[in-house]
Amino acid sequence: MSKMNEKNTTNEETKSPSNFIRTFIEEDLKAGQYKKVHTRFPPEPNGYLHIGHAKSICLNFGLAESYNAVCNLRFDDTNPSKEEDEYVRSIKEDVKWLGFDWGETEFYASDYFDQLHAYAIQLIKAGKAYVEDLNAEEIREYRGTLTKPGKNSPYRDRSVEENLELFEKMTRGEFDEGSKVLRAKIDMSSPNLNMRDPVMYRILKVHHHRTGDKWKIYPMYDWAHGQSDSIEGISHSICTLEFEDHRPLYNWFVEQLGIHHPRQIEFARLNLSYTVMSKRKLLKLVQDKFVTGWDDPRMPTIAGLRRRGYTPEAIRNFSDGVGVAKANSLVDIAQLYASLREDLNKRALRVMAVLDPIKVVIENYPEGQTEELEAVNNPEDESAGKRTVPFSREIYIERNDFMEDAPRKYFRLAPGKEVRLKHAYYITCTDVIKDENGKIIELRCSYDPATRGGWSDDGRKVKGTLHWVSIEHAYNAEVRLYDHLFTEPEPDKGEIEECLNPDSLKVITAKTEPSLKDAQAGMYFQFLRQGYFFVDSVDSKPGAPIFNKTVGLRDSWAKKNG
Ligand code: ATP
Ligand code: MG
Repeated sequence: MSKMNEKNTTNEETKSPSNFIRTFIEEDLKAGQYKKVHTRFPPEPNGYLHIGHAKSICLNFGLAESYNAVCNLRFDDTNPSKEEDEYVRSIKEDVKWLGFDWGETEFYASDYFDQLHAYAIQLIKAGKAYVEDLNAEEIREYRGTLTKPGKNSPYRDRSVEENLELFEKMTRGEFDEGSKVLRAKIDMSSPNLNMRDPVMYRILKVHHHRTGDKWKIYPMYDWAHGQSDSIEGISHSICTLEFEDHRPLYNWFVEQLGIHHPRQIEFARLNLSYTVMSKRKLLKLVQDKFVTGWDDPRMPTIAGLRRRGYTPEAIRNFSDGVGVAKANSLVDIAQLYASLREDLNKRALRVMAVLDPIKVVIENYPEGQTEELEAVNNPEDESAGKRTVPFSREIYIERNDFMEDAPRKYFRLAPGKEVRLKHAYYITCTDVIKDENGKIIELRCSYDPATRGGWSDDGRKVKGTLHWVSIEHAYNAEVRLYDHLFTEPEPDKGEIEECLNPDSLKVITAKTEPSLKDAQAGMYFQFLRQGYFFVDSVDSKPGAPIFNKTVGLRDSWAKKNG
C-alpha cells in the first residue's frame, strides 16, 4: 500500500462531503459484500487528462484515502496506437501533480491480455462465445435497433470445436483484419443493445506500445474493462453515466466466468461551460494548431491548467465543491475560477504591473531622484515579507485609470483630482498632454511629499488607489492574456469549429516593477488590481520571464455579459 493512500484517513473522512457513492460503499461494507474498499482510475492513454478526469481522479483517490484503501492507476490500453507512450507519461505526471500517489499499483489492461485470452477460451468452451464471419456492416444490420430486435448470425451456432480452432487461427494472425471477430453469445433480442452478442475481439495487426507485435487480435474495451477490474480485485468500479447500459454486460461476463464481481457505480460526468472535454475534439484543436499543444494554457487539460497557473489545491477544492451527481448538468466555469482565486489569494505575491501604460510626469518631484519604497508582498501571508519598489519622477499608470471628463463618482485620476499611488504618494493631475490627433499621450501631476507611503497626516481622504511603475526602472514583460477558447457557453452543442474564439489569446508588453525580471518559472503573482499571473514554464528564459494571466480578480467577464 502506498504512503499517500494510508495518510490522513480520519481527516479525510470528516472533510469529504457525503454523497450517494459513499452511501453505497458504506452499505456494502456493512453487509459484508466487500471486506475492503479498492478503487481505480482507468484512463485510456489516447490523450492528455482534462479537468473532467481530474474530478474522477479526486473521487477515486479521495475514496481510497477515506477508507484507508488503495486506488490503482490502470491504463486501459486496449486500442494500440503509436503515441500512447507520451500519453502514459503525461497521465502519470498529471495524477502526481494533483497530489495523488498510486504507489506500487500501476497496471495496464495489456498486462491482462493473456488472462483475457484464456477467459475468452473459457467462454467458447462453455458455448458462450463464437467466431463471427459477418463483416462490420452486416453485424450492424443484424443487430437491429432500439425498436427492432436483432437476428441471429448464421455463424452463431458453430460448434465449440470449430470456434476454438478459428479463434486459435485468429490469434495466430492467419486471417485478415476485419474478416472475423469473436462475439459473446448472449441475446440478439435483448432490449439492451449492449447485450446483443457484443464483439469481444477484433483482428488488428498493429504494434502495441507495451506488448509489441505479440498480438494480432485485441480485446474490445467492453470485454477488457470489467475483467481488468475483477482481476485487480476492485470493489467499487466508479464510472460515468454512459456506462450504465454496459453494466449488465460487465456483470454477465464476470458471472459467466465465475470470477470476482466488482460493483459498478455511475455518476454524471463533469461538464463545464465554455469547455469541451472530448479527447477527440481536444486532439483536433492540437492537430489543427488552433492551440500550441496539449499544454496550451487555454486548454482544459491538466497540463494546460498547470501552465496557466492553476494549483492542485484549487482543482481539488473545485472537484469536492461540485460533488457527484446522478444526472448530467453544466457547471458554470465561474465556479472553477472562484476556487482558483480563493487559493491564489493565499499564495500569490502582490506586485505592480501596468498592462496598458500612459506616462505620468510628477513635475515637483526632483529630477534624477529615486526612492526605494517599502511594499508588503502578501497581506494574506505575513511570512511572505516585504520588498522595495523604486519610485521616480516619471511613472506609468494604467490608461483606463485616467478620465478627462470624469463623472462625479469616478474615483481614479482626472484633471484636478487627487489619488493615492500604492505604497507611494498622493498625486494630483495638473495637465493633460495630447498628440495632434487629440490622443492623450502624457499626464502632468504634482505630488505631496508629506504623504510618503500613501498616507496623509491631516486625515484628508482620497478614494482611489492606483498601481504604477517607475519608467526608468520598468521591466518590459511579455504578458499573455487569455479568454475562453469558445464563444458559446456550450460549444459541444454544434460544431466546435464554428464557435472558436479568435481572440482567446492576446499578447501584450506590460511595464512591471523591476523585481519581476528575476521571476522564476512556477511563481504565482497577483498584479495589483489586475488579476493573477503565472510565469510561463515553457517559453520563459532566465532574466526574461513571460507571464500567463491565470484569472482576473473578479469575474469581470460574467459581469460584462451577464
Ligand atoms: P473520451 O470519451 O473523450 O475519450 P473518456 O471518458 O473515454 O474520454 P477515459 O480515459 O476513458 O476518457 O477516462 C478515464 C476515466 O475518467 C473514466 O473513468 C471516465 O469515466 C472518467 N472521466 C472522463 N471524462 C470525465 C468527466 N468529464 N467527468 C468525470 N469523469 C470523467
Ligand atoms: Mg473511455
